[in-house]
Amino acid sequence: MAEYCEKRGQKAYQIQLFGGEPFVEDRVVDVVVHHARFVASRIGVFPSFAVSTNGLFGPARRRFVGDFFSRVVLSLDGFREFHDRNRPISPDRPSFDEVVETARYLSTARAQLCIRCCVTSESVLHLESIARWLCEEFHPAVVNFEPMTESPESREAGLAPPSPHDFARHALRSWQVLGSHNCEPASAPILTDGLQNTSCPVGKDAVIVHPDGLLASCYLLPSDWEARGMDLTVGRILADGTVDIRMPDVLELRRLIRSKPRCARCFCRLTCAGGCHVNNSYPGCPERYSDSCLATRALTAATLLEDLGQAEVAEDLVTDPEGLDKLSARSSDRVVDMEEGP
Ligand code: SF4
Ligand code: SF4
Repeated sequence: MAEYCEKRGQKAYQIQLFGGEPFVEDRVVDVVVHHARFVASRIGVFPSFAVSTNGLFGPARRRFVGDFFSRVVLSLDGFREFHDRNRPISPDRPSFDEVVETARYLSTARAQLCIRCCVTSESVLHLESIARWLCEEFHPAVVNFEPMTESPESREAGLAPPSPHDFARHALRSWQVLGSHNCEPASAPILTDGLQNTSCPVGKDAVIVHPDGLLASCYLLPSDWEARGMDLTVGRILADGTVDIRMPDVLELRRLIRSKPRCARCFCRLTCAGGCHVNNSYPGCPERYSDSCLATRALTAATLLEDLGQAEVAEDLVTDPEGLDKLSARSSDRVVDMEEGP
């Protein structure tokens, strides 16, 4: 990659490590960081490092991350009672104190701290106070509130995702709290810089290297997308180190993200653009809106109103069950399909 950048006259590039948890195999992280820095000293193309992590580090690893990484996305799910229910290390070992220690350390390090907070049906009611606490304690540059995705494990633990309308209401208010602390709210399907065909690496010609050399545009396990009848692979790193990228598969992914019956008549189709292509708008998914769609539609409508200087109307929308129900039930936002008018 560094050599490729050098040929193109670029002086810098970014290496992102994510997973799962990259530090489960921390020797790989060490090799990546030190080797990329060694290459930089030889050819003068400089890497910056970003990582998404659960932050379960000892003091030495914390210093390493603080010294070498320019951006850290840390999973911290709010107050102790919420975080420890979501992320126990084992049934009798909670993780809150260790993660808070990491967040505190990183809040004074050179790395940009981004906090990713998984929201459940219980924590959603406290989002505004969680936003305030995160800002006052850790001064993050970015906070991303994400509704929990339900799984057999989450059901077994008695956890449930927030209702879409609760999430929309409290996320909107918590974004105002973040803004008042100069902290940027993040949400790929809603707060985009412009129009987009996809809100994730799929369809952007991204190449994600899996541990076995598989090249794909999504970081999930192949079994996750295969269960949806999808193939998100675009090639492989061969045994001799050659990179084999299959262009027809890249083109097929570009086509895939543009053909979504559910999204065709939704006013968010060029901002949310389908959300997660595996878990939300996969081929053959029901045409009715998912819970994720309902939250996205309400928050996007509220954000548009705020951008038009109508913050009070935005607040009215997310607190009005009837208005939210109407927005949820509207199967087409096209003006020509609206019998009762826009
Ligand atoms: S239908 Fe759902 S997934 Fe598609 S653009 Fe609208 S909100 Fe996003
Ligand atoms: S398809 Fe879903 S899981 Fe895969 S990269 Fe996109 S958003 Fe992430």
